[in-house]
Amino acid sequence: MGPVQIKQLINSTPVGESVEVKGWVRTKRESKNAIFIALNDGSTIHTIQAVAEPGQLPDDLLRLITTGSCIKVTGQLVASLGSGQSVEVKIQDVQVYGTADPEVYPLQPKKHSLEFLREIAHLRPRTNTFGAILRLRHTLAYAVHKYYNDNGFFYLHTPIITASDAEGAGEMFRVTTLDMYNPPKDEAGKIDFKEDFFGRETNLTVSGQLEGELGALALSKIYTFGPTFRAENSNTTRHLAEFWMIEPEMAFFELQDNMDLAEDFVKYVIRYALEHCADDLAFLEKRQAEEEKNKPQNERSMPLLEKLRFVVDSPFERLTYTEAIDILVKSKAHKEKKFQYPVEWGIDLQSEHERYLVEKHFKKPVILTNYPREIKAFYMKQDDESAAAPGPTVRAMDVLFPGIGEIIGGSQREENYEKLLQRVHEVGIEPESLWWYLETRQFGTAPHAGFGLGFERLVLFVSGMGNIRDVIPFPRYPKSAEF
Ligand code: ATP
Ligand code: MN
Repeated sequence: MGPVQIKQLINSTPVGESVEVKGWVRTKRESKNAIFIALNDGSTIHTIQAVAEPGQLPDDLLRLITTGSCIKVTGQLVASLGSGQSVEVKIQDVQVYGTADPEVYPLQPKKHSLEFLREIAHLRPRTNTFGAILRLRHTLAYAVHKYYNDNGFFYLHTPIITASDAEGAGEMFRVTTLDMYNPPKDEAGKIDFKEDFFGRETNLTVSGQLEGELGALALSKIYTFGPTFRAENSNTTRHLAEFWMIEPEMAFFELQDNMDLAEDFVKYVIRYALEHCADDLAFLEKRQAEEEKNKPQNERSMPLLEKLRFVVDSPFERLTYTEAIDILVKSKAHKEKKFQYPVEWGIDLQSEHERYLVEKHFKKPVILTNYPREIKAFYMKQDDESAAAPGPTVRAMDVLFPGIGEIIGGSQREENYEKLLQRVHEVGIEPESLWWYLETRQFGTAPHAGFGLGFERLVLFVSGMGNIRDVIPFPRYPKSAEF
């Protein structure tokens, strides 16, 4: 189907057969003896070299073949004499599909900063770095579906537009068709959302979890994989306003099963990327080393492939929040007041604390469990009071990764109707707004658990990139929605 891809061509044996290659010119080099054109079609990080004899191509055609132009080369696939590739195309004919005036085409064959490339997100997929990231992203997404399919999970499509603002996971974006300049008002002078499209206030979802639970309490094992939105004004390297989340939800799973699944799942998808994206990962490893070459030795990251193999091969460290606080309080960093935020039982761990545990103390991924009830969502299952902790805790689990901090957040869910209802009241949610969620605890309730993995945080980790805005094709963040 369609033309042969460069990925296939560079792996085929040259038999002098005639081929047609279509792609974008990366470079053109003219020497005394030949003209070399490096062509890439995005199917691989590699280019194929097309070679013409001097004078073979008319000057006015040759002039149009510049970096960024799109061409079709017809020729013969032959063994390459040059180093670095085994085959090349001996040009018979070139057709130019589209030129790219070198005076204005922004992507020239030199190093561009990631900040600059973000401003030309419509063209950055044509760079080596973004080509590699986008192929990696695809492969990881495919591995996610494969993992769950092979393990008896069903892909459940949860809604993007939601009326419940109760999830409490973050600030939401409003969805409305009301006239913002002249909204209908009720008797009290407030905006009358009964007049709105859905007859109520609606938002973009921050998580598919609550609906995911409804699926799990019927199909036993489901997962969602869809876009989620958070209007939090966090200008960090780990937050986007629009990101993709993978949320498995399982009936008859308790906290231990949930942890086992999370660990097995992330290791599987990373292993899958190692097996299927070797060339792109090798490129990204070199890129990272290049990026960090001016850093002092002790601040450089572990080489990318070594880091990924290490994560796949080592068991994640599992401990409770209470044990983690103990480690942090006893740490040198705490005693020397190196932490910006104070540490004591009950705090919501900051990224600096999470990274201390992962990068300095355990030097591997960590799963923290049994967090204080007050800092976690209302739907998490409450621990027995006998739990060894200074205050009430819930069966939460966060998976923390080096360089990232929290990559997964999850828990066993509260299946007891009375206890759940009490938490709903305590955190100030109107029970009526969640009647359908609460009813699942009245009709055939079951122990169940689940978690959410931020897909871009996974891609960030596996690619070794430094900013989450560079691992999604068209990032959405405060003051930016250009493309
Ligand atoms: P954080 O504390 O890092 O802001 P969170 O506690 O708000 O994250 P959850 O509500 O538990 O995150 O969401 C589950 C997962 O979604 C997180 O573990 C993370 O991988 C990812 N995630 C959360 N917020 C964002 C965001 N703004 N951009 C990208 N990924 C995110
Ligand atoms: Mn969380």
